[in-house]
Amino acid sequence: MLYRSASLRVEADAGGHVTLWFDVPGQRFNVFTRRVLTELGEALRVLADRPGLTAVVLRSAKESGFFAGADLHVFTQITTADEASALSALGQGVFTQLADLPVPTVAVIHGPCLGGGLELALACTARVAVDQPGTLLGLPEVELGILPGWGGTQRLPRVVGIARALQMILAGRKLNAAESVQWGLADRAVPPERVLETLTEVLRAGPARRRPARTWRRWLLEGNPIGRALLFAGMRQLLARKVPDDMPAPHEALRAVEVGVKRGLEAGLAYERAAIGRLSQTTACRNLINLFFLREQARKPPLLDGIQDLPAIRRVGVVGAGTMGAGIAQLAAVKGFAVVIREVSEQALAAGLRKVEDLFRQAVDRRILSAEEAQRKLAAIGRTTAWDGFDTADLVVEAVLEDLELKRRIFRELEAHTPAGAILATNTSSLLVKNIQEGLAHPERVAALHFFNPVHKMPLVEVAHTAATDPRTVAALVRWSLALGKTPVVVKDAPGFVVNRVLIPYFSEALVLRSAGVPAGAIDQAMRHFGMPMGPLELLDQIGLDVAGHISRSLQPYSGDRFPAGPALERLLQAGLLGQTGGRGFYVYGGKRPRENPDIARLLGAAPAAGRLTASQLQERLVLPMVNEAVACLGEGIAADAATVDLAMVFGTGWAPHRGGPLRYADDLGLPAVVQALDRLAQEHGPRFTPCAELRRRAAAGAAFYGPAGNQGSSAR
Ligand code: NAD
Repeated sequence: MLYRSASLRVEADAGGHVTLWFDVPGQRFNVFTRRVLTELGEALRVLADRPGLTAVVLRSAKESGFFAGADLHVFTQITTADEASALSALGQGVFTQLADLPVPTVAVIHGPCLGGGLELALACTARVAVDQPGTLLGLPEVELGILPGWGGTQRLPRVVGIARALQMILAGRKLNAAESVQWGLADRAVPPERVLETLTEVLRAGPARRRPARTWRRWLLEGNPIGRALLFAGMRQLLARKVPDDMPAPHEALRAVEVGVKRGLEAGLAYERAAIGRLSQTTACRNLINLFFLREQARKPPLLDGIQDLPAIRRVGVVGAGTMGAGIAQLAAVKGFAVVIREVSEQALAAGLRKVEDLFRQAVDRRILSAEEAQRKLAAIGRTTAWDGFDTADLVVEAVLEDLELKRRIFRELEAHTPAGAILATNTSSLLVKNIQEGLAHPERVAALHFFNPVHKMPLVEVAHTAATDPRTVAALVRWSLALGKTPVVVKDAPGFVVNRVLIPYFSEALVLRSAGVPAGAIDQAMRHFGMPMGPLELLDQIGLDVAGHISRSLQPYSGDRFPAGPALERLLQAGLLGQTGGRGFYVYGGKRPRENPDIARLLGAAPAAGRLTASQLQERLVLPMVNEAVACLGEGIAADAATVDLAMVFGTGWAPHRGGPLRYADDLGLPAVVQALDRLAQEHGPRFTPCAELRRRAAAGAAFYGPAGNQGSSAR
């Protein structure tokens, strides 16, 4: 043993090679802390002085993967820009020690190799990626409001070329083993059993640094100063269009790459250090890191702590294999649960299974599982038009049409066809669980498990319960959601739960604005600039105007005429507009890119020339009603705390993550300012903007939603 510390050991083998094994204690994944960096620095000093050293191999001793990145707790202890820059300097220094070793250095990468982990691997002369599901190389720092600060913005473009590096750094593109070889990031992709022989081959090939493959296209863009200037100018324009307001990280990252390309590695590293300092002090960074911790907390819910002997869930029945049921069944099968699907007819069953099959195909393409595994799991899914297989189900998820009478009937039948202890969950979007429970012999085992579309992509699940639901039912559903890889939030049964309820005033106001003659493009663009992944009208088209109409009708008894867009939506539906699936909604689809639907203005009786509203006026009118509704959810006890609402909105809808969610955003605006703006809007446009009692109460009491120091994760800012 040449060196040993808490997180790594360095072993020599016969040929003068040494292997550095990382195993950061107390962590499921290797993560960088100051201590890990310091120990690595010490080990590299020992190696640099070692006579006869021929090569260094870097490996993780953890099965979970190579390195998940930096430990974000380190970031929460930082209070000033200088401290953040100093942390960047520490990592840069250690990785430069590695890059300066006079022998070949090879990182063997399995599982996640993200952020600081990839920056470490980039400081090596070669990278071998283990070709197995889960191997993923990327630099996701911009998603946390910072940039790769340990040399990533400098070394990645030198290895894969500028354009590809920008895709990884700015757009968060992550590569599996095979892709990382195609992109020139890894030298080899090999199955686990071939790692050792490949290492010998790679090391024998010597320390020559590879150059990114030269193609004509790349030379034209990257190989000469004019091409490079055009590339960076084009990227700046793209960022100006795509990056939301108040999100400086992508701009800083682009500049860091550019400085390094134009002025060399040292200047680039200096820019990285300074930029990390600046970014560490931004609201966006605080919010994004905060959300990361909120999500971590949601994945270790205290409600599971004291609960003993929860019923195990192994066999899952899914009723209805439409958009949602097929998604839920497929995800459950991927995660190893025994699944049986029920549909109304053989024809509907076959259609549902085609959807499941398609989802499996996508999972194989994304290398989540092998083709054989997919085939096996698909074949194992039970299928019935009666109730075969439900007699052994531990859990049933109902995902039939949004119709109360139908759902009631299904639940009554489920009571007859499932074991006494089975948990029964509905995926309803807008009906009350209470109404579905009515008349059942065992309402205590009934709750809602509200997934979002598409199931395999959307990270959130709302677990909604009534007073009659047994807490153990809730706990079991939370645990099952976690087993599916989802982030669960527990909410009380209420119309639309949290997410759809908060979305209703947003959609409604978007329709009001469109009816007043504001073009769909202007409305959607304003909200994309705010930070939503898409605008409200694009989103309505994607959800389907029929689905939205259904939800709006179900919620109408509760929302009354507070949200006046129902009739407008009905007019569009009567005219046969369904949104994306039907090819026509607020936009017309089918061409190269969607274009505004010229019929909408007539159908909505839109005023031909509304006075021009600025993007910030549009944002105010669309966002503040959501804030108001989010506060009301809290006031009514539907969500236990602000973090639940913010998590639900960000993970259920993609709500501007860098603003931290509607309640965090309200805190940042200041509650008195929010009340004032809503009062003004109510005067100008009607009582739908009136601030709710809870908002007035909090504003008057000077109470923010988050403590003065914020939540964990922002304690220092
Ligand atoms: P869908 O119309 O795509 O699928 C419903 C399926 O249920 C159909 O295939 C139908 O044949 C089947 N079905 C009807 N009666 C049945 C019965 N008695 N037994 C078995 N199957 C039966 O609907 P969807 O979009 O998947 O929505 C399903 C549920 O999920 C609804 O409650 C909806 O509100 C909710 N939901 C939908 C979304 C979404 O975006 N689509 C999101 C969240 C929740």
